[in-house]
Order: sequence, then structure tokens, then C-alpha cells
Amino acid sequence: MNYHRYYQVDVINGPGTRCTLFVAGCEHQCRGCYNQSTWDPRSGHLFDQSMEDQIIKDLNDSRIHRRGLSLSGGDPLFPGNVPAVLQLVKRVRQECAGKDIWLWTGYKLGELSAAQRAVLPYIDVLIDGKFEQSLADPSLLYRGSSNQIVHHLHEHP
Ligand code: SF4
Repeated sequence: MNYHRYYQVDVINGPGTRCTLFVAGCEHQCRGCYNQSTWDPRSGHLFDQSMEDQIIKDLNDSRIHRRGLSLSGGDPLFPGNVPAVLQLVKRVRQECAGKDIWLWTGYKLGELSAAQRAVLPYIDVLIDGKFEQSLADPSLLYRGSSNQIVHHLHEHP
């Protein structure tokens, strides 16, 4: 998997203070996409072991409390990204007690493949659906357009 940006401290993408990763790779081609440069899965930088370790370290950093991790893009559930995302969310669940995971995807919850669905037990919130320019609304919280749904999947302590 490749990624475009990583914010160690972010207060925009999700509730509270968070770590946020924007991955490369997206096949949805939404009209009005804010981030077309991320569509190519070969763009950006390699998401390697040291990046994964860095995120775990940042989430557990007691100097700046993070509520959790946000995964966006691009699309974290782009098929080629799923193995790396699954490994990351498993580690967060095992090594970062009390942190929540929010994930934005252009797929609809009901159309996920078995491989994509394997990520769901490890995340708390899934925001699904393509960005629809005709339904865009800047007043929406955590969504770009009103067709997208914020699914609260699991509540982790
Ligand atoms: S899912 Fe997101 S990144 Fe992909 S095309 Fe749509 S708006 Fe752009």
C-alpha cells in the first residue's frame, strides 16, 4: 500500500484529536473528487513497517492524547489496500487500548467483498458511499454529501 499524507495530530478528520492517514488508491472516480491525485495506487509513498510503527507510537503518545485513528484517502478499502489496512487496524486494536478507528470508503457497506468486510470487526465507524456532487453539503459532519452514511459499527471501551 502507498499513502499520500499522514497527520500525527489532526482535529479535522473525525472527532477529537486524532492521527490521520490518507492512503493512495481509489477506483470510484467521483465527480468533484477533492483528492484526484490519490486515485493511482502507485502514487505517494510506500506505507512500510516504520510508518505502521509510527502510527502505533503516536496513538500511544501520552504527551498529546489522541482519541483515535482516521483512515481516508483515496480509499482504505481499495482492494489492493485491504491487507495492509487489516494489519494496521488489528495492531491498533491490540496495542492501542481505548483508541477508536474511523474509516472513510467510497464503497457502500452492503457491497463490500468478504475481504473488505474482514476489516469491519476492528473499526468503530465506517463512513460509506461515493461523493455525490449534487448532494454535497458543507454543513454535514464527517461527510461530503448527504448520500454517505456514518455507520457506528462497534463501541470499543
Ligand atoms: S471515493 Fe473519495 S477519493 Fe475516491 S473518487 Fe470518490 S471522493 Fe475521490
